[in-house]
Amino acid sequence: MTEVADQFTEEQAGQISRISHWIGGRCVEGASGRSGPVYNPALGVQTGEVDFASAEEVDAAVQAAKGAFESWRSVSLSRRTELFFRIRELLHDHAEDIAKILTAEHGKVLSDAKGEVARGLEVIEFCCGIPELLKGGFSEQASTGIDVYSIRQPLGVVAGITPFNFPAMVPMWMWAPAIACGNAFVLKPSEKDPSASVYTAELLKEAGLPDGIFNVVHGDKAAVDAILEHPDIAAASFVGSTPIARYVYETGTSHGKRVQALGGAKNHMIVLPDADIEMAADAAVSAGYGSAGERCMAVSMLVAVGHAADELVEAIQDRLPKVKVGDGMNPESEMGPLVTREHRDKVASYIDRGREEGATVVTDGRETAPDGNGFYLGVSLLDGVKPEMDVYKDEIFGPVLGITRVDTYDEAVRLVNENPYGNGVAIFTRDGGVARQFQFDVKAGMVGVNVPIPVPVAYYSFGGWKSSLFGDLHIYGPEGIQFYTRGKVVTARWPDPATSKVDLGFPQTR
Ligand code: NAD
Repeated sequence: MTEVADQFTEEQAGQISRISHWIGGRCVEGASGRSGPVYNPALGVQTGEVDFASAEEVDAAVQAAKGAFESWRSVSLSRRTELFFRIRELLHDHAEDIAKILTAEHGKVLSDAKGEVARGLEVIEFCCGIPELLKGGFSEQASTGIDVYSIRQPLGVVAGITPFNFPAMVPMWMWAPAIACGNAFVLKPSEKDPSASVYTAELLKEAGLPDGIFNVVHGDKAAVDAILEHPDIAAASFVGSTPIARYVYETGTSHGKRVQALGGAKNHMIVLPDADIEMAADAAVSAGYGSAGERCMAVSMLVAVGHAADELVEAIQDRLPKVKVGDGMNPESEMGPLVTREHRDKVASYIDRGREEGATVVTDGRETAPDGNGFYLGVSLLDGVKPEMDVYKDEIFGPVLGITRVDTYDEAVRLVNENPYGNGVAIFTRDGGVARQFQFDVKAGMVGVNVPIPVPVAYYSFGGWKSSLFGDLHIYGPEGIQFYTRGKVVTARWPDPATSKVDLGFPQTR
């Protein structure tokens, strides 16, 4: 058992553990005097207190990274590959420990937490191919006796700022490609569930990653601002809500950084009249309520076209009483609590808001929430939701699924395309021609055809359109490699006295 895993044993014994930074290969206690509470959402009790970094503490992490960068970027590709295979094995061996930390602080059920770790590991597996990913191009004899070639080099110190909902996987989307490309990394994880990041740091050290290449600073806006304004940080990746993504993009770029900032979402699932309604209902329940709706790729709006609606509502209604809500550590549970009491209350308030706005509350999750102090809410279903309602416009980020009814495919596509978000979208149909037209028409970054949560596999890149992404490059996959490197083109000639002469003209290739 490592230090962090040990802390979890203590927490379960009712103690509040202190969660500190990880700088230069060791745990560093915060000295800012600021900190925040971490809860076990299933029990509704505080289990940790996380240190919040000051600008000076962020700077200490950046200096550790800066000091380690030059020798890390010189490490051969074959050694980096070897290390990434070790990292993959170690994280894989400790996947269950990581998942337990996620369940204890986030609340998601253990099977879902294991799924999160598995999807993150796929990004690390992709990074094991770093020699292939960093290959450049070569043009022999671009001009007589002259060759031209391109190489990609790391940026230096880069940072990641991550949300509460995927405390292990989203950091892996960032640190794995960043480090494989030869950068040094500073992570600022969510202050709501910070322990998985420190545990990851311990495992990376054990795998043999040099000290200073992976650092963790905890905190809130003060730490984020210190990252965005730091002159020695070359790039920042952000995943979180849209208002903060926009702020991070604008502040980071105005300080000369390369920034990719992934924001929030309102993901529509369109169900056409010819769809397999039973399959669509299974998908809607899984994608709407999995992880208590706290996924940026969760389906939050069902758009039922024509006569699909009544059948679909009935099929979903049949399934809802069977969804088992409870402590994520219980293998019987299918949906855990929400991350904090405040968030649970905010999500629950949308049920009344929907009713006031004219929607029909088909199922009210407040009536089925388990007893106790946990931050629970049962599954809720709202029918007759209209685009002008807050329950349609807002990203609720909880187990509240809305249904809107339209008459035609064109109306359904218009709803998606007029929505300010453009993360994921799905269509359920048996008609391949319509599905193909949909993929052509729709304004969103990730499209599912009879697949409700189309998170791209690790060798493609993840990202939305419109207010779901600020910046040009999507995250992980080939675009992740591009984000964490910059190109250089070399034009080379070897001395040949026979062709050497003074020529003040602009270099010609013919
Ligand atoms: P959040 O925006 O509140 O927090 C994200 C990060 O920003 C955290 O590290 C937090 O400490 C920091 N932060 C919060 N307020 C800040 C401020 N005022 N200034 C600077 N930094 C600040 O998001 P969250 O609640 O942790 O996560 C849920 C959100 O993330 C949802 O909107 C969800 O859709 C989104 N998300 C998007 C994706 C995606 O890939 N597009 C993936 C996961 C989550």
